[in-house]
Amino acid sequence: MDRLELQKLRDLPIEGVAERLGLRVTRHKALCPFHDDRHPSLSFRVSKNTYRCFVCGASGGTIDLVMRHLHVDFKEACRWLADENNIILEEWEPQPSAISLQPSFDACRYERFFERPWLNDEARRFLFDERHLDERVVRWCRLTSWRDRQGVAWLQTPYYDCEGKLVGVQNRNLIKGALPRFRFPQGSVCGIYNLPVLNLLKPGEQLFITEGCSDCWAMLSAGHKAIAIPSATLLTQDVRSKMADGRSNSSLLTLHSSLGITFHMYPDRDAPGERLFLQLKQLLPSLVHHQLPPDCKDFSDYYLARKTAV
Ligand SMILES: [Zn+2]
Repeated sequence: MDRLELQKLRDLPIEGVAERLGLRVTRHKALCPFHDDRHPSLSFRVSKNTYRCFVCGASGGTIDLVMRHLHVDFKEACRWLADENNIILEEWEPQPSAISLQPSFDACRYERFFERPWLNDEARRFLFDERHLDERVVRWCRLTSWRDRQGVAWLQTPYYDCEGKLVGVQNRNLIKGALPRFRFPQGSVCGIYNLPVLNLLKPGEQLFITEGCSDCWAMLSAGHKAIAIPSATLLTQDVRSKMADGRSNSSLLTLHSSLGITFHMYPDRDAPGERLFLQLKQLLPSLVHHQLPPDCKDFSDYYLARKTAV
């Protein structure tokens, strides 16, 4: 693959690429797939062929968008773009220039933060006073906090794979309404959240699927085993990579047949929530729909309402 071919992929109209990935683009805007977006925060600059989310700070061009959205590496993103657009690529030869464009996640640098998690006042207020989460859940999730040079407090959430390897970190700004709301270290893969819980499942148990890590914490605090799958593409990706690895036993899909695990979900009370449920149901046919009460928009709300009613 040469420079010219790479440029061809970079020049594919970004809004078209976004639509191929399943985003709905209206007036150069879309719901951001990288955070739980309710009003379109992702905007496209047609003149520069780039995207940018003003809430979570995600930004880049066509290749970055595919990498992030499908959780694939640079090479795979190029292949996907080429296939989708009937562009024939020369046999891929990894070139140093192309590799350096693909930042890899430096797990060693971040692992130590989660060995002795520490919560500052802002984090304790957010997790315990506002959300009433269970201390044991916060410990299990190894949530920690830090303060940047400007004095801003951040909550740091580690993402692990099934084997407990650190694969990504999400930083959440603890100042209400401040932007960017989220930050991710380079190369972080924040895909399916709380995968290590799969190792604790007993035959016939229920597994709840939530849309993001905060709903997942609420679900865990309510005494359920839970993971978060913010987009259906992630699950497709998970299935595909597990099949390629031959580790199909650990795949979410086989949990149903091998352990009799049943899948459950309280979709958010909005159109994207119901859409996600339907998409996941196609992949996990046994997924059971639970209805939130009318005054709760998501499970965190519901959990809080029950918690504070006592
Ligand atoms: Zn965003």
